[in-house]
Amino acid sequence: MHRVVSPERSARRRVLCAAVLVLAASCGVSQQQEVQLGTDAAAQVSAELPLIRDAAVVRYITAIGTQLAKVTDTRNLAWHFTVVDSKEVNAFALPGGWVYVNRGLIERATDMSELAGVLAHEIGHVTLRHSVQQMQQAQGANTGVSLLCTLTKVCESGVSQAAIGIGGSALFAKFSRADETEADAEGVSTTIKAGISPYGIPAMFKLLLAERTRNPGAVDAFFASHPLEETRITATEAKIATYPASQLQRLTKDTQAFQTFRRRLLALPPSPPPKKTP
Ligand SMILES: [Zn+2]
Repeated sequence: MHRVVSPERSARRRVLCAAVLVLAASCGVSQQQEVQLGTDAAAQVSAELPLIRDAAVVRYITAIGTQLAKVTDTRNLAWHFTVVDSKEVNAFALPGGWVYVNRGLIERATDMSELAGVLAHEIGHVTLRHSVQQMQQAQGANTGVSLLCTLTKVCESGVSQAAIGIGGSALFAKFSRADETEADAEGVSTTIKAGISPYGIPAMFKLLLAERTRNPGAVDAFFASHPLEETRITATEAKIATYPASQLQRLTKDTQAFQTFRRRLLALPPSPPPKKTP
């Protein structure tokens, strides 16, 4: 079994969450509170997960993430894009503009538009404020740590999940199907506004569904927080079809910079195994 957070940190977080929830119930979460929630959770992510600090990797993920965020964010959030050094497929966002994508997802992507689609979808969860609602729901269930567990699979074994009392809490942390549909539609419009082909979104879904059949363990974390069925693929393709073909044809599907970035990741030392303590 492995411990995820110290009891002190966990207690502190519960106090913070309780405070935020009281405010949320009375007047909604302000942008400042949303950013604070995200900043807090991001500190936990960097303490719990191996993040890639390689300068070239950081530069590329920041550039493509920012290219997408700036065409859709109307609140002037400070965005942070980070690659997690994990071979599993996952991507997640925290309130306030923190977006994470696993190395395993990028290495499986075939072109830039697939990575851009995932980032645009996660950016959508932030701009549409699904992420802050998701976090409130998880915390409302008094499982402050559960959302992060679900998002990151940091709490891997069933034993440790039970020990920290998150049993069925994935239910609370999962985005609703309506949220997913909304983030997908937002992802389509964001990629197009950024000059990138939106076809990467259904292409990545197909890749994830195929991977689930072949190797379910590798995509668990993604599916735990993002319900994904065939219908999302058809809905996304239908949304794309509402744009004129002439416009879609002009959009970028791949770049040298993406392929260089992907090769760079493939050449890094293997990802560390998930953290375990005796
Ligand atoms: Zn999602």
